[in-house]
Amino acid sequence: MGISGAAPHGTVARGPQAAGSAHSLNCVSRQERSEEAGDTRNLSVCVVFTCSRGNQVAADSPGSPPALSGRPVSRVFAASDAAKAGHGADGALVAEVTKPLRRFRTGLGASSSNGKSATGDESGQREDGQVEHDYFRYHPMPEITSWMWLMVKDYPDLVTLVDYGKTHENRTISLLKIGVDTGVKKKAVWMDCAIHAREWIAPAFCQYFVRQILQTYKTDPKMQLMMKNMDFYVTPVLNVDGYVYSWKNSTTRLWRKNRSAPPPGCDCDGTDLNRNFDAHWGTVGVSSDCCSIIYGGNAPMSEPETQFLTYFVGSRKEDFLCFLTIHSYGQLLLVPYGHPNLTASNYAELMEVGQAAAEAIRKVNGMTYAVGTPADILYNFTGSSQDWAHLLGIPLTFTFELRDNGTFEFELPEDQIQPACEEAYSGALHIITYAHDKSFHAAAAATAAAATLWIVLLAAGTTGVTLM
Ligand SMILES: [Zn+2]
Repeated sequence: MGISGAAPHGTVARGPQAAGSAHSLNCVSRQERSEEAGDTRNLSVCVVFTCSRGNQVAADSPGSPPALSGRPVSRVFAASDAAKAGHGADGALVAEVTKPLRRFRTGLGASSSNGKSATGDESGQREDGQVEHDYFRYHPMPEITSWMWLMVKDYPDLVTLVDYGKTHENRTISLLKIGVDTGVKKKAVWMDCAIHAREWIAPAFCQYFVRQILQTYKTDPKMQLMMKNMDFYVTPVLNVDGYVYSWKNSTTRLWRKNRSAPPPGCDCDGTDLNRNFDAHWGTVGVSSDCCSIIYGGNAPMSEPETQFLTYFVGSRKEDFLCFLTIHSYGQLLLVPYGHPNLTASNYAELMEVGQAAAEAIRKVNGMTYAVGTPADILYNFTGSSQDWAHLLGIPLTFTFELRDNGTFEFELPEDQIQPACEEAYSGALHIITYAHDKSFHAAAAATAAAATLWIVLLAAGTTGVTLM
C-alpha cells in the first residue's frame, strides 16, 4: 500500500480514453526442452520467450542498447548450477556478496536483531562455509540473490531458481519454484514481494515463507501432499531496481516505484508498478503526473517488470489456484477489486477465506487484520496486479498489507520481522491450504474415507462389534 504521507503531486485520474492506447507489447513464446546429460536434476525445461516493445528499456548489459527482442529471458537453474558456479543468476550482483556489506540503519526505530543467525551457530557460519542466513534482518539485494542460491543448494530436489525477466536497469528478476517434481503438470501458487521498493518487510516475509514451507515439508504430511500437488512460485523481489535504490542511502529509503526513465517533458523517474497492470488501467486512484508516487506509466504494462510478471503468470494461468502479492503497511487482507464499480464473482468466498485467514493471523500474536476490498477498507485504485490476476481468472487473489498500523510505517523495526512473518505465514497458509483442498477435494475426500474405514475396522477389531 502505502501512499500515506503521499504524493506532493496529488492524484490525477487519467481519462479512460488513455487506457488501451499504445499497447505495444508483442510477446510470442515457445518452449524448448533441453536436457543435460549426467544430471537428471539439471535444467529440464527452459522457457524461452521474446518480446518486442519498440524502444522500451531492458538493456542486455549495462550501457548497451535496449533489447528485449529475440533474447531468451527465462532460464531455469538447479542445484548443479549453483555448485558449479558458486554464483547467482546475476554474476555481478552475487560477486558483491563476498564483500563486507554496508548496512545503514536510518529510521529503523527500535531496530535490533538478536545478533545470532536464525538457525545456525553463534558465528553465523555454516558447516559448508556459507554464511548463515538471518531471516530476521533486512537484506540488500545481493544477499537475497545469494540466499536464493542457498535454497537451491540446500533443497535440490524441491527448489529451482528461474530467471524470468529483466528490469529497466537490466537486473534479473528471479523466482524460486518449490515443489515435488512429479513429472506431470501441476497446479500452482503465486507469491510476489517488493513490488513497492520501500516495503522491506515484504521481501523479508517471502524469505521466511520459503524457509517455513521447506522446513515444514520435512515432517508434515499435509505440506508434503501440497508440494506434490502444487508448485509454489515465489518472487522475493519483483521491483529489483527500486529495492536496490531504496538501499542506496537515507534519502532514497522510501522510494516506492521502479526506476524507469520519465516520459518526454517530465523530469521524474519511476512508475508505480501496482498501477501499471492491464486492469482498468489509468482510471481510478492513479496519477498521470510522472512525479507522483502513484504514476501509472504511459500505457498499461509499459514497464518491463509488469510485462514479465504478466507473461509468466499469464502463460500458466490455468495452473494458478491462488495469487498472493505482499505489501506493507496497514494490516489488511485486500480482495478484488480496486475499482469501486466492480465486484468479484466469488466475493463471498474471498471474504470468507480472508476472514478465516485474518483469524489465523490473530491467533499467533493477537494482531488484527481487516479484510475487504480496497474500496471498503483502504482506497480505490486500478491497474493493480491483484485485479489483473483475478480478471485473468485466478480465483483466490489477495493483497497482504503486513505490519504495522502506522507507527513505523515502511520502516518496521527489525525486532518486529519475526512476529510479523509468523502471523502472516499463518494467514497465507490458510489461504493456500483452502485453495489446495478445494481443488483436490475429491482426492482428499477419498483419503479421508479410507482413513475412516481403517479406524472403524480397527475399532471393530478391538471391540468385536459386527458392522453388518
Ligand atoms: Zn505497496
